[in-house]
Parts: sequence; structure tokens; C-alpha cells
Amino acid sequence: MQTNKYKHYLDMHCHYDQITIQDIKQKFTNEPLIAIAQSTNIEDYRKYLEIKAENIPNLYFGYGLYPDNVLKKDFEKIERDLEEIDFSEALVIGEIGMDKKITENPFNISLQEKLFRKQIEIAATLKKPIVVHTRGAVKESLEILKSYPEVKTILHWFTAEKEEIEEALSRGYFLTERFAKPKIENIEKHLDQIFIETDLPVWQNGKETTIESIKESYEVFSKKYNMPLEKVKEKIINNFLKLFPTIDI
Ligand SMILES: [Zn+2]
Repeated sequence: MQTNKYKHYLDMHCHYDQITIQDIKQKFTNEPLIAIAQSTNIEDYRKYLEIKAENIPNLYFGYGLYPDNVLKKDFEKIERDLEEIDFSEALVIGEIGMDKKITENPFNISLQEKLFRKQIEIAATLKKPIVVHTRGAVKESLEILKSYPEVKTILHWFTAEKEEIEEALSRGYFLTERFAKPKIENIEKHLDQIFIETDLPVWQNGKETTIESIKESYEVFSKKYNMPLEKVKEKIINNFLKLFPTIDI
């Protein structure tokens, strides 16, 4: 019998390090959810090892170091963190990327690039997709990513100019939408490259985001593009299974 895999809401990008194991277990037992919780630093990674040990069905993990690490510690320490992380155990490498909103200092930006490239290279070696943060640095990120055409790339919460969105889509990248942003023109032509996320715990319109907020994210998407919710859910699950063909929902 065909399982009802299309009933699931997939949260392609979120952070569960501040949520209790009990809460996660309860939500994943009661709701048709799939999520890829991603790390931003070594502390999240260690927390995720504890959550992962619980083997919660449909909960996956991404490991990576976020660009703000270069403002918080020496690069030597960052390299030790990278060595500690068992990237082979991750579904995706993320959250990684560039961020010019937190620093415009050219030296810090160059360190971000160094950290970003190191992690893309890990992903290339392990043949795993990357989940990329591009805040204030879309141009720089797209330029760096040009060097790695073989790496499957997911640009999370990608708010960019129309031409940049077109460029990303033409390179075959996936884009994730969070609630109402961005607006992708002719989206019906690009549905094979779309995911939806919450980026939990980032708040939405002054409201706390929770594990189940992914449902709202889907509803907003479905209304915005005037597409039946069931069609959106089916499309997103098919994209997920294409990216991860060994996963059984
Ligand atoms: Zn995030």
C-alpha cells in the first residue's frame, strides 16, 4: 500500500537546539512532520548529538558552522571545531555561508569566506547538499558557489534581487521560502527547486515560531501563489525524495 507520504509538512531549515527532547518527541509523534534541524556552532552540534541519539522518526540533522563564528573565536579554534564535527553523520552541511549584516570588516569577510569554502569542500567530498545563509551577501555567496557546480545547493530564506533569483534557479539551486518571502516570479516553472522552512527560532511578525509553524509557512505559500495546499505538499515531498532518494517516509 502506498503510504501517505504527502501528508507531511517538511521544514527544510530550522534550529532545534533550544527545544527540549520531550517537546520534539511529542510534536513528531502527534503531527505529520519532517524537519532538518541545523547547527550554527559547536554547542548546537553537541546538543544535536543528544537529540539524534533518541532516533526520532522523520527528524534529520545538518551540521555546519555559521559565519558569525569568525567574530567569536580564533580561526584555529574554529578548525578544531570542524575536526570535532562528524559531518558524515549529517543529512546536509549547514547552516553555512556569508553574512555582511553582522560585519563589513574586509578581514572578517575573508575569514567567513575561508570557513564557507572549507565546509563546501567537506560537502563536496562527502557528496552532501549544503544549506546556505546569504544575508547581505548574496552577490559574494553566488560568486563563491560558482566554484562548486557539483555541490547540490539549497539557498535558505533567499531574499534577493529578481536577477539573482533567476541566476540561482538557472544554476539548479533550490530556494527555500519562509512565510511570505521572497516572491519568485513564474514559480510554477520552478516548483522542482522549491522548499519551505521556518528558520525556527526566528520570530515571525512578533510571534514566536514553534515546531508546528511550518504548517503556517505552507499555508502562506499556498495562498501567495494561489496553489492548492495538497499540491504544494506533494511537490515539496517529491523534491525532498529526489534530493535524498534513500530516505523512506
Ligand atoms: Zn537558520
